[in-house]
Amino acid sequence: MTPSSFSTHDVLNQSPPFWDVDLFAADLPLVEAVVANGGAAALAELSEFGKHWGSAAMAERGRLANENTPKLRTFDARGVRRDEVEFHPAYHELMARSAHAGLHNSTWNAEGKPAGGAAEVVRAAKFYMAAGVETGHLCPVTMTRAAVAALAAQPDLLVETMPVIATRAYDPSFAPWPTKRGMMLGMGMTEKQGGTDVRSNMTRAERDGSAYRITGHKWFMSAPMCDAFLVLAQAEEGLTCFFMPRFRPDGSVNAIHFQRLKDKLGNRSNASSEVEFAESHGRRIGDEGKGIKTIIQMVQLTRQDCAIASAGLMRSGLAHALHHARHRSVFQKHLADQPLMRAVLSDMALHVEASIALVMRLCRAFDKACGDAAEAAYVRLLTPAIKYWVCKSAPGFLFEAMECLGGNGYVEEGILARHYRESPVNAIWEGSGNVMCLDVLRALSRDGEAAAAVLRKLAEQAKGLPGAAEAVAYVGNAFRRPDAERAARFAVERLALLAAAAALNEVSPRHAELFAVTRLSANHATMYGAVDLAPDDVRGLLDRALP
Ligand SMILES: Cc1cc2nc3c(=O)[nH]c(=O)nc-3n(C[C@H](O)[C@H](O)[C@H](O)COP(=O)(O)OP(=O)(O)OC[C@H]3O[C@@H](n4cnc5c(N)ncnc54)[C@H](O)[C@@H]3O)c2cc1C
Repeated sequence: MTPSSFSTHDVLNQSPPFWDVDLFAADLPLVEAVVANGGAAALAELSEFGKHWGSAAMAERGRLANENTPKLRTFDARGVRRDEVEFHPAYHELMARSAHAGLHNSTWNAEGKPAGGAAEVVRAAKFYMAAGVETGHLCPVTMTRAAVAALAAQPDLLVETMPVIATRAYDPSFAPWPTKRGMMLGMGMTEKQGGTDVRSNMTRAERDGSAYRITGHKWFMSAPMCDAFLVLAQAEEGLTCFFMPRFRPDGSVNAIHFQRLKDKLGNRSNASSEVEFAESHGRRIGDEGKGIKTIIQMVQLTRQDCAIASAGLMRSGLAHALHHARHRSVFQKHLADQPLMRAVLSDMALHVEASIALVMRLCRAFDKACGDAAEAAYVRLLTPAIKYWVCKSAPGFLFEAMECLGGNGYVEEGILARHYRESPVNAIWEGSGNVMCLDVLRALSRDGEAAAAVLRKLAEQAKGLPGAAEAVAYVGNAFRRPDAERAARFAVERLALLAAAAALNEVSPRHAELFAVTRLSANHATMYGAVDLAPDDVRGLLDRALP
């Protein structure tokens, strides 16, 4: 007997860890979606990223960063305020790797303008793979990337900050941002009395020379060790967006007082604080009274990232489930060869195929939106619809993925329990489900013509797919109804399904047809696997999902 083995048994019939894989090459639907949306030139770079993030070392960092949660150090040993949050070294490693790959800035050029080309698509592919390994640390990464869109409303501040934002260095030191090698940005909008209704913000901003003194609270402010936050507060002219750095211009620590960290269902590697501002120093971004208009530029991008991350979580769930099913035998046969398990896994694979095609199509629209009004209209109408559908489908999907692993799926040592706990937050923050539906209605009412053109284009791209024409007609009428708000969830879901079928049709027409048959022409059954796919289609879907 070796010292490491038990005296009574050998370990048999357990799947090996899903490690040391190229997360890109092993994901044909992702590769094809990247190519179809303009990212073909980045295949080698994405494969490098996929190998790195698919390594056992990165998986271990993800585990450690979640098991060793951040700690708030409000005061030092002598009672002096510190307001620092300590993270495990594994979290810092994850941050450094994401920053090194440009996940926090690669869609911008050095001046803070859109990078162009397929920058959005390429970054999204990386973000999706990273989300499947560790999602919590991506919160400050996504906020930093998105904040640049709001900083554009204050060109002098953008010029000052971009040289630090645009580096690929991660610098966790607690120091004034102008002195650092790289910086991260967070966001403070939500107060106790309202997160959706930010107009109810009570935090006040008073002029102090060319800057402001900000007093009030935020009920949620994530990633508190960011170097600065974009904060909403009431100024003389109304709700205004501010840049609030951790240090004042004279080098003293700004009065950003963390009260406690939230005890969250998931998203454990990330810290989310409750915070008080006591005449904290802030600089205005954009005009007074235009706070929502300014910060919505940022929120549009964080919504996009919520959808990408949820798709990445589902992909990771599918890959782990399929990998396990190919190794685990029950009744002398691998699970992956049992017809009923194949029905479940292939139906899940179809959902992921559509999700990744859809988010990559959205990212292509972000890439082109600057010079193409039709793509800008696609972004405006479909970002909330896609966030709604992709993010809200993730918890149910991950539950099914977890069940494919049986009891092992439910245990914290595996990644699926963590993914499952993580998944609801993407639907809740950055605008919850109903809020996304209302935002689709707003896009329609503000520019109905542009939205109608998007719908016509979707009809063209989905032409011939089962149920597509009916979905187009339904969506067109539903939003014209006087009670459109009441019916908005059904209409927004159909819009997202139609957009998914159209996007998938550009990548893989056969799978678009399967998606349309099972989701557009008929309502999908409540459970995965309760669809009647032909054996060849089942095989095709599973081979593509994990060669
Ligand atoms: C882990 C975590 C981290 C967070 N980090 C941050 C952060 O860094 N910065 C920040 O500013 N915020 C942050 N938030 C807050 C988050 O953005 C809000 O919780 C979210 O916007 C919802 O706001 P609320 O909690 O006030 O809920 P409410 O606004 O009260 O909404 C409650 C429910 O009502 C629904 N609803 C709202 N309006 C309507 C309507 N008109 N019709 C029908 N239904 C409606 C919503 O969809 C939601 O389901 C974080 C939240 C979480 C969970």
